[in-house]
Amino acid sequence: MSRASRRTNSPYSDRAMFARFWRDYLRPHTRMVVLAAILMTIEGSTLGALSYMLKPVFDLVFVAGREDAIVWVGLGIMGLFVLRAVTGVAQKVIMTRVAILTSTKMQDDLLGHVLTLDNAFFQKMPPGTMISRVISDAEQTQGLWQALILGAGRDVISLVSLFVVALLIDPVWTLVAMVGTPLLILPNILLQRYLRRKSARLRDITADRTTRLDEVFHGITPVKLNALEAYQTRRFTKLTGDFVRAQVKTAAGAATLPGLIDIAVGLGFFCVLVYGGQDIIDGEKTVGDFMSFFSAMTLAFQPLRRLGSLAGTWQRAAASLERVFQLFDTTPTVEAPGATAKRPDLPDTTIRLHDVALSYGDTDVLRGAAFTAEDGSTTALVGPSGAGKSTVFNVLTRLAEPQSGQVTIGGMDIREMEVGGLRSMISVVTQDAILFDETIRENILLGRTDVSDEALQAALDAAFVTDFLETLPQGLDTPAGPRGSALSGGQRQRVVIARALLRDTPILLLDEATSALDTVVEKKVQKAIHSLSQGRTVLVIAHRLSTITAADRIVVMDAGRVVETGTHDDLLAEAGLYARLHSLQVERK
Ligand code: ADP
Repeated sequence: MSRASRRTNSPYSDRAMFARFWRDYLRPHTRMVVLAAILMTIEGSTLGALSYMLKPVFDLVFVAGREDAIVWVGLGIMGLFVLRAVTGVAQKVIMTRVAILTSTKMQDDLLGHVLTLDNAFFQKMPPGTMISRVISDAEQTQGLWQALILGAGRDVISLVSLFVVALLIDPVWTLVAMVGTPLLILPNILLQRYLRRKSARLRDITADRTTRLDEVFHGITPVKLNALEAYQTRRFTKLTGDFVRAQVKTAAGAATLPGLIDIAVGLGFFCVLVYGGQDIIDGEKTVGDFMSFFSAMTLAFQPLRRLGSLAGTWQRAAASLERVFQLFDTTPTVEAPGATAKRPDLPDTTIRLHDVALSYGDTDVLRGAAFTAEDGSTTALVGPSGAGKSTVFNVLTRLAEPQSGQVTIGGMDIREMEVGGLRSMISVVTQDAILFDETIRENILLGRTDVSDEALQAALDAAFVTDFLETLPQGLDTPAGPRGSALSGGQRQRVVIARALLRDTPILLLDEATSALDTVVEKKVQKAIHSLSQGRTVLVIAHRLSTITAADRIVVMDAGRVVETGTHDDLLAEAGLYARLHSLQVERK
């Protein structure tokens, strides 16, 4: 996404965002917040009680000399301190808990939602950006809760009471004290906008930095092989400069908001002194009036400053909330797989493509591809690189949506099937078999608990996983490493084949490895694939002559079209593209 489009005006108003944040994340914790507010009131009122307790200390103990009062007055004061400590700790724990619960719930919800989005979305959004959205944007909203609800509540109540005191002493003085306020409205609005912009920019850079790191660590091998260590570090450092600037600007903006209040209060003090001072000199007011008015103003100072910085807290959180809600409102174009992935009831699993056309932007990838892969037989997809073979797999699994044409399985349009149901009929075994950073067992079972030990063992045997398990320190419980990096290519493939055997799906999509494995391993992988293919409808992107000739039918693709179909002998006799590809391959041998 370009920076310009990221900066476009938010579709959400502040009020709508807060209402939504309240509804989805804060409201479930209302009881806890009320409790925290009560604790906070108790904690706050102990200050008043303590000062009140000074009266008996002086009057009863010191002045009246009543020895019996020493103990109970002393105990009373100690009790107040204990009460203050207990309520303070409890309130802090409750608030932290609620803050963490809301932000982690937002993170869980975000991941849950983002995973339902389709592939097109992930091609535009780099993983680093997504990680940054899910982790840091959600965390930005943590402070909001505390600051906004309790801070505002407490400070507003203090301010109102102080305002009443000030009005009672002298309404005119009160007005005079507030003379600076209107002057600050415009700068405040401008400053808030500035802060929102800078916070949004900061979120962008944070995402860019995560993306950079993600790319570097995922590409650690090419980075090392091409001696890119210094280059990559420089690229990151450049972002660091931007990051520091954005951080400092955001902090400066946030600090200036309460700074504006300082100026307003200073102006108020000055005006009251000049105007009120005259009243006292003229004998219209007592010094006591003036002192209590001044102390009300002084007491109002802290809550006012806190309320001033609240605007900053909101602006920073709002910049993140905007992104989070935008993500929540991005909906998948392909419906998300339901929890109950119901396999459709089909007479057979013959796959048919009718005039399928698909393009990415201006690039036509499939241009009316059409072929049939018969139920229970093996169909080989052959063709030059870039012909669209992998795209056919993506269309079949609905990772990509064609612009026109139709794909049917067993006569039913795949768009009429539940996506989860469709995918539950298909196993995909590709050459870049990706494993998760879990044990081999977990990689094969993928969360299934209904697999018996015998069935697991049978799959391990048939996929020749058993062969290399013995050489691993913890056998089946050996971790596969990040993206399966602790296993060799041949081992990874066999793990994926074992996984597919257990899934036992009627359809198998197979992308044959182009990189040669050593002959012994190759034989084993071949045998494993052979046992996996039995009795299934198999579509294989084939590179090896042996696989191609063994297929029941060959579909030759070129530039997004099917140009020839038939058996090996038919196609050789046609003397077309297949014959040319074949002779190239024979020459290479
Ligand atoms: P094959 O498997 O036959 O080598 P593919 O199906 O992988 O071919 O790709 C066909 C064409 O589609 C290629 O030219 C590739 O660059 C293009 N392509 C594939 N995926 C995308 C994508 N997500 N965005 C843009 N172009 C793509």
